Amino acid sequence: MNIKNYINGQYENPINKEWIDNYCPANGEVYGKIPNSSKADVENAYNAAQSAFPSWSQTTFEARSRILIKISELLEANLQRFAEAESKDNGKPISLAKTVDIPRAASNFRFFGNAITQFASESHESVGHNAMNYTLRQPIGVVGCISPWNLPLYLFTWKIAPAIAAGNCLVAKPSEVTPMTAYLLGEICNEAGLPKGVLNIVHGLGTTTGQAIIEHPDIKAISFTGGTITGAHIAKVAAPMFKKLSLELGGKNPNIIFADCDYNDMLETTVRSSFSNQGQICLCGSRIFVETSIYKKFKKDFVEKVKKLKVGHPSDESTNIGALVSKTHLEKVLNYIEIAKNENGIILCGGEQVIVKDFENGYYLEPTVIEVSNDECRINQEEVFGPVVTIMPFNNEDEVLQMANKVKYGLSATLWTNDLKRTMRMSSQIQAGIIWVNTWMMRDLRTPFGGVKASGIGREGGFEALRFFTEAKNVCIKF
Ligand code: NDP
Repeated sequence: MNIKNYINGQYENPINKEWIDNYCPANGEVYGKIPNSSKADVENAYNAAQSAFPSWSQTTFEARSRILIKISELLEANLQRFAEAESKDNGKPISLAKTVDIPRAASNFRFFGNAITQFASESHESVGHNAMNYTLRQPIGVVGCISPWNLPLYLFTWKIAPAIAAGNCLVAKPSEVTPMTAYLLGEICNEAGLPKGVLNIVHGLGTTTGQAIIEHPDIKAISFTGGTITGAHIAKVAAPMFKKLSLELGGKNPNIIFADCDYNDMLETTVRSSFSNQGQICLCGSRIFVETSIYKKFKKDFVEKVKKLKVGHPSDESTNIGALVSKTHLEKVLNYIEIAKNENGIILCGGEQVIVKDFENGYYLEPTVIEVSNDECRINQEEVFGPVVTIMPFNNEDEVLQMANKVKYGLSATLWTNDLKRTMRMSSQIQAGIIWVNTWMMRDLRTPFGGVKASGIGREGGFEALRFFTEAKNVCIKF
């Protein structure tokens, strides 16, 4: 099946007539083509967005809100179709696509459809000067959104929904590895009555299509989620043009387990926070630190549970671990397992590719637990982004805090303890944008989302996202 660009409300072939193969990770076969869009397609998308902007930016909040909520309802009504498409394109278990990816994509539209009706700006009375200041929050214009392959529609809509709600028009690019649900979204937007040109979706390689978006002189803001190296490149290109930037980048998140935690709850959740989506979630807790007094027990129980996870075809409802997203990515993860072995890491379970019957060419890998004794080894410092976690013991709070912070990343952290004082101390000192205590990946869309250090700059989520997608303008009236 050939995917097309969605420009000005219509599906278009790429102008250069060049196509890229789209692979199904579950069997390694090509199952469609996607446009290898050039600068010319991005220019068409920009022109459509620019033409739509005067009218869309003046559309009432109520009307915008209605359309966003309608998109959300249509996504919910098409849950099965979208979940199947996501699972096939990405390799993730269908059960996950049905319960997380697509419902959360629908929530993004519903949430920002509501949020825009509550979004307000400030006023400041300059007492004694007979003056009143008020702040306008105006849409930026045409903005660019670029998203990764791990949670394709979920992260794509995380950007698109607030951008549109705030009155902007968009040129958006999903990852070339997982374009399918973004392609299907166009139909839904048309059915929901989104005016043509408000959202334009161009497909293609990051280095050509993505590059054309970030270097376009009139695309005034870029919201990007992806790898840290790509984020640094985008920052470099965008800075001389003074584009507004939001960068949500990689992570190497600590999962810190104290002996006083609710053990069973911790164990269940730690299996999830390690291996959900084949470990390909920027928020996965890939470095597990366990207090010495329960280390032995944890090691035994955790490995036992991990061994029970079923690696299988994504469309099988009983599958826990589906396929990794691509052959290149599988090779990258396998290479990290070799690096860990060479660094004296002990493979407690997993570590090998899995051959699934009838799908021998799929990109399957066993969930892998590696015991390390040195927190500074590469497997503990670099983002693997696969079903691989490390475990190591710690003696006290100071020691684990130091190890938690001794990485270049700072996206999220998980803390398991019932000690309130320790919770307060640790959560204020861990260098991360998001701290979960006695839970993982519990999301409230009103909260700020983003990382520190090499995990990015800026925050999205709630009003933070609406602030990012608007310009503040102060008006001062003397009376
Ligand atoms: P990449 O950085 O490789 O790609 C992300 C997106 O950027 C893709 O659409 C890609 O296109 C595009 N891109 C690549 N090069 C350029 C360029 N020069 N100009 C513009 N766009 C470009 O990341 P991955 O897709 O591999 O995603 C995995 C990464 O994303 C991990 O590091 C993960 O931690 C991070 N991530 C961060 C999250 C967060 O919220 N902080 C959430 C989820 C993931 P294409 O793929 O088509 O080449």
